[in-house]
Amino acid sequence: MNTLEKLVELFRQFPGIGPRQARRFAYFLLTRDSSYVNSLSSLIREAKKEIKKCASCHRFFTPNPKSKIQDECEICSDDTREQNTLMLVARDVDLEMVEKSGTYRGVYFVLGGTLPILEDSPEKKIRIKNLELRVRNDRKLSEIIFALNANPEGEHTAEFVAVTISPIIKEKNIKISYLGRGLSTGAELEYIDPDTLKSALKNRA
Ligand SMILES: [Zn+2]
Repeated sequence: MNTLEKLVELFRQFPGIGPRQARRFAYFLLTRDSSYVNSLSSLIREAKKEIKKCASCHRFFTPNPKSKIQDECEICSDDTREQNTLMLVARDVDLEMVEKSGTYRGVYFVLGGTLPILEDSPEKKIRIKNLELRVRNDRKLSEIIFALNANPEGEHTAEFVAVTISPIIKEKNIKISYLGRGLSTGAELEYIDPDTLKSALKNRA
């Protein structure tokens, strides 16, 4: 495989990118001057080095060098947030969307993806083991809000997670609510406007 083909192959692994788009990306880079390509490659390296995964919610974050807490993000380590309410989201972008709306004051857990309907090994696709551990060991937790996309994959994931954690939930008397039910069918959290999100959060059931 020559260098161009190797580059195309790397772009193909990006989410939602097919072979033709991957090829367009590769050719686009070839048309740029070297300063563009250099800053792109050094930024990727820097991001990989600086950005960490939060030990509590598993989102990616940049630790504040002045902060004493280096393994938890600024949301999880914020005492003013409601530590008893945990919102389950599929991806970092969903968390960002909810944060931008400014309507939620609890904490999060990022599952890391959703489950395709026929998935043989769910534990490889989402952080279900980490979630079980978190729910079991978290003494403050009183409510879990499922904020997954209102599409079949999102609903399937919510069902799988709810069934898996139900023994712990019952034992600890934790309330479960669903944000997706306040959203229109097919809605993806990533593209929802703040007002819709605000009312979905208020009317969660
Ligand atoms: Zn966190």
